[in-house]
Amino acid sequence: GAVDLACDVLVLGGGPGGYSAAFRAADLGLKVVLVERYPSLGGVCLNVGCIPSKALLHVAAVIDEARHLAGAGVTFGAPQIDLAGLRAHKDGVIGKLTAGLAAMAKMRKVTVLRGYGVFVGPHHVAVEETTGAGQDKTGRQQVVAFKRCIVAAGSQAVRLPFLPQDERVVDSTGALQLSRVPERMLIIGGGIIGLEMGTVYSTLGARLEVVEMQDGLMPGADRDLVKVWQRLNAPRFDAIRLRTRTVAAEATADGIRVQFEAADGSRSEGVYDLVLQAVGRAPNGRKIGAEAAGLPVEERGFIRVDRQMRTAVPHIFAIGDIVGQPMLAHKAVHEGHVAAEVIAGELLGDEQLARTAFDARVVPSVAYTDPEIAWVGLTEDQARAQGIAVDKGLFPWSASGRAIANRRDEGFTKLLFDKATHRIVGGGIVGVHAGDMIGEVALAIEMGADAVDIGRTIHPHPTLGETIGLAAEAAHGACTDLP
Ligand code: FAD
Repeated sequence: GAVDLACDVLVLGGGPGGYSAAFRAADLGLKVVLVERYPSLGGVCLNVGCIPSKALLHVAAVIDEARHLAGAGVTFGAPQIDLAGLRAHKDGVIGKLTAGLAAMAKMRKVTVLRGYGVFVGPHHVAVEETTGAGQDKTGRQQVVAFKRCIVAAGSQAVRLPFLPQDERVVDSTGALQLSRVPERMLIIGGGIIGLEMGTVYSTLGARLEVVEMQDGLMPGADRDLVKVWQRLNAPRFDAIRLRTRTVAAEATADGIRVQFEAADGSRSEGVYDLVLQAVGRAPNGRKIGAEAAGLPVEERGFIRVDRQMRTAVPHIFAIGDIVGQPMLAHKAVHEGHVAAEVIAGELLGDEQLARTAFDARVVPSVAYTDPEIAWVGLTEDQARAQGIAVDKGLFPWSASGRAIANRRDEGFTKLLFDKATHRIVGGGIVGVHAGDMIGEVALAIEMGADAVDIGRTIHPHPTLGETIGLAAEAAHGACTDLP
């Protein structure tokens, strides 16, 4: 058929992976078309993920910190919460960022097509124009021809089929709308997304219950880190059901009645005003007409790629949530840069760029709960499972002057060093602002630092970041005079 537009690179999906790839490709001199079905760029992360959740978590953190001051001679009254105002704050943050992205796309001369894109051939994507906040189709369609394509179509929340269609049953997107604060809230799935949303709702007044199939909350993080969080957060929860499945639910006038079955076969139930399903995210790979391009998609919707983000079809690349775990924005961004550089290298004949590759060993994870939990590289559990002998340097925040001054000394900083090479291989931090601190540990791993490198780096006193240097000193047995 007729081609309406031709480009070097077509990027399918305008999330953090997609816009980063598009911007990098444009900066490198390529003609780029970016296809996004929603009115604003930014994907899940900016519109219904990372950013709105942090806008609400910030408010919760300030309320929680204010409560911590009660023991320091300062008490505030109960917070007066205006949900409309809170929603406006969150929407304002999103608006600023998405407007910034639109401006950056324009500045770089990236053509943004608003519409739903599907492959119609190995070198063609048809874009059905969409309009409004939903995805109503206008009936107008354009066919775009490309030399290279980057699939960045992301993921969406998994739905439990037996949960009733009811406004009291939401996924993370529904929870972020913050229509009201329930009295009794159930979180199905004890991972980061569920527990972050739970933190917001509980600080605003909801009583929480959580149900998780595995034997601990926040799967993936070391248990010693999670334990600190759990001890501090116990008062928010009426029940924490582990090794338990949610098996049935029905909507009643009194609330959503939910049935559970534990691993030992015992059954229980509860009634809730709000049920948040946060049981994971499924990739959008099966909805992009991949067959037409000969692009293989796995049963669950993931697309397999190599270290250069190349799929089985050599001129089609894929990045972000759609290529697998960890489903994190910063991973998507880095993968997007790699794909764009490899493509620019090939199309412009730059051999060095064409050799760019992605190595995902050092992707930090952060739960922005209260306190925060952050980890990067090898965890202690993984080291044990893989039979890697490690030396551990641990610094308890109960010995940090700053943490004590902040009245938040419950955390600790832990670094792991390979016994054979002495290089740092991983680290975990639990405590307020742990997420802002973990980048230093990631850098140390990337640079191949050992405990002496980190311990002799002068950290400003008194800061929480200082605990990283002190944990390194603990690992190589040095003494320190600083609290
Ligand atoms: P997405 O962000 O999913 O973007 C894909 C885009 O493609 C979407 O905009 C979609 O509309 C578009 N699209 C899909 N198919 C088509 C099509 N056929 N045609 C046109 N457009 C299409 N990650 C973090 O790193 N830190 C956090 O704090 C964090 N918090 C989160 C909180 C929540 C509540 C959620 C749900 C997620 C959070 N994440 C966080 C995860 C993060 O949002 C994702 O990892 C990230 O958005 C993935 O980026 P992506 O570019 O791969 O895909």
